[in-house]
Amino acid sequence: MLIAYTKQQQLFVSYQHSREALQMYRQYQQFFCPQCQQSVQLKIGQLNIPHFAHIASQSCERRFSEGESLLHLRGKIQLFEWLKSLGHTVELEPFLTTLSQRPDILLQSKQRAIALEFQCSAITNENWQLRTEGYEKNNIQALWLFQTPQNSYTTQAIQKIRISPIHQNVISYSSNNVPYLVTYDARAAKFNYWTNLLHVHGHTFIANVLDIPLETQYFPFYEPKSITYEAFIVYWHIYKRMCQQYVKQRLMRSKKGVQDLFLRSCYELKFSLNALPHYIGVPVINAKAIPIFSIEWQAILLDFCRKRQLLPYEMSKEEIQLFLTLLNLEPTNLRVQAIENYGKLLGYSFLQEKYSMEILGKVYEHLYSHLKV
Ligand SMILES: [Zn+2]
Repeated sequence: MLIAYTKQQQLFVSYQHSREALQMYRQYQQFFCPQCQQSVQLKIGQLNIPHFAHIASQSCERRFSEGESLLHLRGKIQLFEWLKSLGHTVELEPFLTTLSQRPDILLQSKQRAIALEFQCSAITNENWQLRTEGYEKNNIQALWLFQTPQNSYTTQAIQKIRISPIHQNVISYSSNNVPYLVTYDARAAKFNYWTNLLHVHGHTFIANVLDIPLETQYFPFYEPKSITYEAFIVYWHIYKRMCQQYVKQRLMRSKKGVQDLFLRSCYELKFSLNALPHYIGVPVINAKAIPIFSIEWQAILLDFCRKRQLLPYEMSKEEIQLFLTLLNLEPTNLRVQAIENYGKLLGYSFLQEKYSMEILGKVYEHLYSHLKV
């Protein structure tokens, strides 16, 4: 931790003093933990940032966080100083007695306080949830800022990315409803943005990757704009390339042969696996709820409809539920909606040849028309 109390009950911030001054303070000053009030040691290494630590035998909840890495201490200081320089009312590592929680930074805003957590180490989903709920219950907004994963995407461009489940928890939405993820890289003092997230399958997304140096960022954070049609064409090509790769892998992996529902459906529909029509494998709203890649469930769906002599948009709720059961999936509302969305998107025109040219525009409209410009 970076703060402690002196004997005179003064708040003392370790990093704000030079190493020489700290050596001197250590001679005659005693420091106390703001939480358990026990005496703590001031550590002044040459490599680490000067900080306070409990003595091994002491029991205090704060000791859990004392494995704090240099990166965590550095990021916390950068963010704290940055918010202060923007004129915000901020506190470093305040202990919130009612919650028994200690955010890295507490920021006072007009509406309600914001607890900023700069998270460098791994955190379990349970812990993340507990801490988030703790804040929410006390009318404090939790703002999680994860350290940008190492070996992250360095080129600023539209690309395929992987977002771990814990990071997916903190995906935010701009006031225009644009989904994005902000992380912070304390090594480079930069915010990393993955904006206009489009889910592909599993933990894979397509995103526009960009970064914002700390000194040009503002608070509340910069919000990304809606995607343009031109940019979406790039998304579409990446998506389609992933569809092709998926089919290739699927063919190699499949041991079930004709029993394989996906391969069987393509065969029945007389589709060549090397050149599936563009209207199979399209992103639709709520498709994330179906844990199967769109190209697979959409091919199976079309064959399902062919057998019943239906067009996808003519399916009743019962038929959609039956279809989901065929895929061994619980027919939840979101899944039913995803299939309805796909049916509506296709309409009746997909049987016509010209449709393949128009689908891109239709998908763009479907995905983004609800967003405010
Ligand atoms: Zn303590």
